[in-house]
Amino acid sequence: MRKTLYLKFILAYLLFGIFGFIVVATFVSNMLEDHCLQSTSDALYREATQIANTYAADLYSSETSLDTVSRQITVLAGYSNAQIWIINPSGRMVAKSGEKLDPGREVYIKGFNPSAFAGKIYTVGDFFGSFDEPMISVLAPITGNYKTNGYVVIHTALSGVQQEAGKLLNISYIMLLLIFLLSIIILIFFTEIVYSPLKKITKATEQYAAGNMSYTFSVESEDEMGYLAATLQYMAGEIARSEDDQKKFIANVSHDFRSPLTSIRGFLTAMLDGTIPPEKHEKYLKTVLDETDRLTKLTNGLLTLNSLGTKGMLLTRTDFDINDTIRHVAASFEQVCREKRLRFELILSGDTLYVNADKEKIQQVLYNLVDNAIKFSHPDSSIRIETTERHNKIFVSVKDSGIGIPKEDQKLIFNRFYKTDLSRGKDKKGTGLGLSIVQEILRAHDENINVVSTENVGSEFIFSLRRSDVNDQLED
Ligand code: ADP
Repeated sequence: MRKTLYLKFILAYLLFGIFGFIVVATFVSNMLEDHCLQSTSDALYREATQIANTYAADLYSSETSLDTVSRQITVLAGYSNAQIWIINPSGRMVAKSGEKLDPGREVYIKGFNPSAFAGKIYTVGDFFGSFDEPMISVLAPITGNYKTNGYVVIHTALSGVQQEAGKLLNISYIMLLLIFLLSIIILIFFTEIVYSPLKKITKATEQYAAGNMSYTFSVESEDEMGYLAATLQYMAGEIARSEDDQKKFIANVSHDFRSPLTSIRGFLTAMLDGTIPPEKHEKYLKTVLDETDRLTKLTNGLLTLNSLGTKGMLLTRTDFDINDTIRHVAASFEQVCREKRLRFELILSGDTLYVNADKEKIQQVLYNLVDNAIKFSHPDSSIRIETTERHNKIFVSVKDSGIGIPKEDQKLIFNRFYKTDLSRGKDKKGTGLGLSIVQEILRAHDENINVVSTENVGSEFIFSLRRSDVNDQLED
């Protein structure tokens, strides 16, 4: 990446310079020469026309002498660095700037033909063999009495015009060079704004790809590059965190599997080697059975959590009566409640109360919450389950007057495997997965669960559900 991107940019920069030079050397050079030729010939033509209408016309109407005209055209020719001639239609030279013609010797321009100027104001050449070098010549007729009496012809060397164009071309080259040098600013900007941050980002991606998720770098710009760098670092942080979570998760799972397995192994070995006498086997086998129950519960919990997490949780939403579901869940715990002398207090809003959710999964939520409420309640107390309706939402609360949850634990109980110290003695079979399953299910429904609890007073878990439209149809 490093070489190619920078080299490509340098190459583009050089190409820009070379093409700029070619354009100036060809198009601009031609344009300048054309422009100088056109403007010189325009100026000469204006001058020739002016002379033809003034001094030369006076000469033919005999208002002024040949001498005077010769002197005047010599002065004018000096100003414009040109040669001014007055010629008869036959090609005889009448007056010539900078030269006094001998009246006894007639000078003719051989082959003079004014039609060579038809349709154009100037010609480039030797003017019918009169010059050794290429000249620009313009011609203006001297008219009087409706006929052409002669012509004013002005010549100037083409090399002079070319020199002028050359000077302008040199200015163009200097401008091009300045632009080229100034465009180095773009190169510097490119390096600062794009190349350097990109280099840092590439280096970081290499580090992340190699597994070094703690690698940090900074791109202090608020443009797309800065955003890209920040996003990349955020992504690396998230990956690092999820790797960390995974490690913790595996450590927890291993720990939770190991303790029942160690105790099972301990009891069985003691039975086999006779440390536990055969008459006590039944008692200890029951404990072993309890431990295997715990392992089964743990495995099922993990499987449930895994299925919830991986499938992005496919919900089978239906409209169902949550009051009825609560009654059923409460009924399923009747035997356990009787043993612990617990009462259910159901305060349900309306006869029926329809919600739109995945019935089976909400049943599991209720089951886990009620199971906890029973586990952590003191005997001879009651568990209250309440439904309320507010702003298109149905709130379900499961409240007990049991051991409660210390303040500092309230945020953590939804984490996988988390169990409060208070509960450890009360519930040896708990896996610490129940509430994380509850939270995953409600999260998939885009709903929330909250806990309000005071140590030694009791706990209340409240979760929300989407109210079903079926309730309105029933009302109508
Ligand atoms: P467990 O299978 O251990 O009950 P949960 O995830 O359901 O796992 O609960 C996590 C922990 O939260 C429990 O071990 C207990 O410490 C605490 N907890 C949950 N519900 C209650 C409750 N109703 N009263 C007191 N503590 C509770």
